[in-house]
Amino acid sequence: MILLQFTARKLVSQVGNCFKRPPKLQMTQIETSRPSSDLAEFREIFAKAKHVTILTGAGASAESGVPTFRGKGGFWRKWQAQDLATPEAFARNPSRVWEFYHYRRELMLSKSPNAAHIAIAECEARLSKQGRKVVVVTQNIDELHKRAGSKAIYEIHGSLFKTRCTNCKHVAENYRSPICPALAGKGAPDPDTEDAKIPVEDLPRCEEFGCNGLLRPHVVWFGETLDSDILMEVNKELEICDLCLIVGTSSIVYPAALFAPQVAARGVPVAEFNTVVTDATTKFRFYFPGPCGTTLPPALARHESEVIF
Ligand SMILES: [Zn+2]
Repeated sequence: MILLQFTARKLVSQVGNCFKRPPKLQMTQIETSRPSSDLAEFREIFAKAKHVTILTGAGASAESGVPTFRGKGGFWRKWQAQDLATPEAFARNPSRVWEFYHYRRELMLSKSPNAAHIAIAECEARLSKQGRKVVVVTQNIDELHKRAGSKAIYEIHGSLFKTRCTNCKHVAENYRSPICPALAGKGAPDPDTEDAKIPVEDLPRCEEFGCNGLLRPHVVWFGETLDSDILMEVNKELEICDLCLIVGTSSIVYPAALFAPQVAARGVPVAEFNTVVTDATTKFRFYFPGPCGTTLPPALARHESEVIF
């Protein structure tokens, strides 16, 4: 478990590098193997799978209109996620970082799970009655899988709706709107909005007895390590799954880049559902192009061989 010691950012660059420059032998393999887009063939494997692991990324939430604040046009005021989602930014300006997260929490009140989230949740509920398991491993922090009804979820980047105390480290669910009185009406995303400059004592505070420490969002920020307990659990799932889906994230981008090749190397079928195809896609058994809200529901619908309870 050496991987546990790496930061998320290091993982991205290391995994990215190893796929960006494949050795010549791999290139030959890539040229001669193509993933299948045969849905009937996928469905035969799906019908027999006992333990399905589904890795989801930003693409799954994009169809619900959830912004990532990254890439072209992805700004909150003058900043992108990588400028604000860091321990350094929070230490320098906790008021601004809390405004950013308050905005994101409030925004989620107007968003809903889409057809991909619902297909995954329905599949888990149906298969669990047949003694079969569906597990979601997501990098998304918006809780849309949970709201769709999924039960077995590993949120490897944490949640917008959890806080962690910077003093006693207590983690708590928090769905308050606004999260504290001082943030009411704050967090507007327009570039010329002035910082609210909220005094630190008026930002969200810990309610554990006698603590009153400053709370922070319980999310994994750039430069921080992933929770090693969650990573170990995810690794266990990956070691026993007999079918793996990559949904709404490219297989060359973390976290799919970290997890999916490990599954494919065991000879387990991996199916990618995404709008873009990459060289790494060819390592996998299946690739279904297009928005996952369109491609996933027919893939995970009840198979004719399934017994209805
Ligand atoms: Zn505390």
